[in-house]
Parts: sequence; C-alpha cells; structure tokens
Amino acid sequence: MSSYRVAQVGVAGGGFEVVEREVRQPGPGHVRIAVEACGICHSDTFFVNAGVPGVSFPLVTGHEIAGRIDALGEGTSDRGWRVGDRVAVGWFGGSCGYCTPCRQGDFIVCENLKVPGWAYDGGFAEMTVAPVDALARIPEGLSATAAAPMGCAGVTTFNGLRRSAAGPGDLVAVLGLGGLGHLGVQYAVAMGFETVAIARGAEKADFAKQLGAHHYVDSTADTEVAEALRELGGAKVVLATAGNAEAAAATVEGLRPRGELVVIGADNAPLEISPLQLLMSAKVVRGHPSGTAQDVQDTLAFSALHGIHPMVETVPLEQAGEAYERMLSGAARFRMVLTP
Ligand SMILES: [Zn+2]
Ligand SMILES: [Zn+2]
Repeated sequence: MSSYRVAQVGVAGGGFEVVEREVRQPGPGHVRIAVEACGICHSDTFFVNAGVPGVSFPLVTGHEIAGRIDALGEGTSDRGWRVGDRVAVGWFGGSCGYCTPCRQGDFIVCENLKVPGWAYDGGFAEMTVAPVDALARIPEGLSATAAAPMGCAGVTTFNGLRRSAAGPGDLVAVLGLGGLGHLGVQYAVAMGFETVAIARGAEKADFAKQLGAHHYVDSTADTEVAEALRELGGAKVVLATAGNAEAAAATVEGLRPRGELVVIGADNAPLEISPLQLLMSAKVVRGHPSGTAQDVQDTLAFSALHGIHPMVETVPLEQAGEAYERMLSGAARFRMVLTP
C-alpha cells in the first residue's frame, strides 16, 4: 500500500473530509499502526475547534486507537515489539522524558504530554505512527472496537477508581451513565466496591442494575442526591464522570468523613463547594487525569479478565463527520467508534 485514507479537518471548527496520504516509514522509536478502531471522545472537540494551543491543520484527531503494528522504526524491536502485535494508544501518546514530572516518573502529568490528534496525527485514519512508549498490548479476547475506548474513557475511569481512597466493600458512587460512567460502574463492581450509579431519570435504574450497580439514585427525584447517599451510609468516593460541575458539587454532602470527590468529566463551570463543606469532615476534591500506556494495558487486561466491555456504535471512516456530530448532539448514548 502506498497511500492510506484519513478523515481530516481542514480548518479550526471545520468539517471532516476523507483524503489520501502517502504512507510513511516510522522514525526511530516509533511504530506504524494499521488502525482497526478509533473511539470518538468529547475531548476531540478541543483539537477540532483549536481550543488548546499547538493544534495545527489539517488535523487528524482521535486518541482512542486500537490496531496492529505493521512497521517498526529503528530501536523498537529490541523493546519487545513485533509486526502484527495488537496495540492500543490512548490519551497518553508519549511523554517528553525531560520535564520535572517525567524526571519524577509521573509521566501522565508530563508538561509536554503528546496526545494523539494534538501532538501528532491521531486515529481517524487507516494508519497512524506513534512513539513506542505510548503502546499498550491488547489481550486476546478483547476486540479492537472494545479495546479502543479503553485508551481514554476506560483508563480514566479504571485509574480514577483504583487510585482513589476507596477499598473493597466501601460505598462508591459513579455520577453519570454515559461513555465514561457505564464503564466506571462495571469497574467499581469488579473492584469490589458497593456501587451506586447516579443518573438522570428513573428509567435508567434497570440499565444501572444490568451493569452490576448495587444501588441506583435518580438525580431528578425529590430526594436530593446527597441525602440519598447519606441514607446508604455516605460515599467514600464519588467518581464524577458527567461533565456537569453543578451535579458533581451536589454530591459533596453525600460523602462520608474523609470521603473523596474525584472529578474526571470535563466542564468549564466552577465547582461551587465551600471550604466549610470540606473542613470539619476532612473531605477531598481532586481531578484525575487519564493514565499512562501501562495503565491502559492494565485496564485492557482487567477488562478482559472480568468481561467488561464498552457499549459502542461502530461507524466507517467515511462517516467520521456524522459520527462526530452524533457524539456532540448527545444522540450517541455511549461510544462512537470508527472502524477504518
Ligand atoms: Zn478522550
Ligand atoms: Zn515530560
């Protein structure tokens, strides 16, 4: 193959168009990946709309990539990678190795983090080239379409929970049942937490139970969410997956002493929480970024072990624009995944 197709955005805020590109050899420390699936994440809007610095156009976005290695750059085979290996590349698309967090071994908060579709062309394409430190192995038993969303939605919820203050048996609430939340509930249950799903509307109770949730709280019901959590004994952790600052802040009174609100859903609105709500009961509010390539690999392995799958809607590359619009409109309940 001498050329391959990408779904690119020509100008900031513009639409997607499928164009041909010349196949290039991966440089030193990089591999070329034949993309089999790429999830569409709400964060893609940062790049498509040039909402962050350093985005260049034409842009190939996509940071939930799953596929197979089809060419090795210099210095990659001696790091254990082979042509044909099944790999995922997520939000963590490589780190600089020289900033202070990198030198401290905390690569996910690298000051020069390389996110695919921002730092380099991402996965809305038949092929992409990624640095070797961004690669996570996909275990047998997990399809490319199931693995792709694990690179961002999956690892963020999985890591958000396993790095939280909760231990086995603790009451953990997952706020939101969308692309992140429906995975968060499954992980929370598999990790041994007494799991509460919080979402809007009584009709989602059945779905929450199907995912394994032990309790369901309808945030539109007369009883306030915090009150409902207190009735269950108070949450040790609330994982706020919904990009809704108001809904996240409303859970704080439902945390038990030393409880933790972990924020992973993006929103520009301020979190309205008073110091008094935190002080006496020693509550914690913190943000959680995604996870490194090893974290993605752990997420994939845990998902395969426990039979945890994202709910996806697959779309061919030519329909990237329609799929992106569907994600934006909220019509796609879970993850839209392109299958080039
Ligand atoms: Zn993402
Ligand atoms: Zn760095």
